[in-house]
Amino acid sequence: MCIFCKIVKSEIPSNKVDENEDFLAFNDLYPKAPIHVLIIPKAHVECFQDVTPSIMAGLTSFTQGVASKLGVDKSGYRLITNNGLDGGQEVNHLHFHLLGGGKLRWEHQHDESHKNI
Ligand code: AMP
Repeated sequence: MCIFCKIVKSEIPSNKVDENEDFLAFNDLYPKAPIHVLIIPKAHVECFQDVTPSIMAGLTSFTQGVASKLGVDKSGYRLITNNGLDGGQEVNHLHFHLLGGGKLRWEHQHDESHKNI
């Protein structure tokens, strides 16, 4: 069983932010912004490439609710999903990183470093 499935089953602890029958939001263990929450479907889906539109529909409204609950729905936030090896996905259970709580930098916006990838 994957680590996020164990979090869903409370077999390992997490700092929960919100949940409903199908989705869970909890704080990232190693936050990269003042707010760094992971949002997952409770059912195991490996990655974004495998997710169905119907799960994404539920995940969208759940994520909007999480953003409101965290008070960043108006100030703004960033959603990221890393997909697969080249995308840097380390946990193979679909998750969206919700980052916020301050003005976020966008490393590739002002430099040429993306050309070196
Ligand atoms: P990714 O690289 O997109 O797969 O992101 C995986 C994320 O999961 C990283 O930001 C980790 O800090 C986070 N993470 C790993 N284990 C845990 C855990 N037990 N509780 C909360 N966050 C975790």
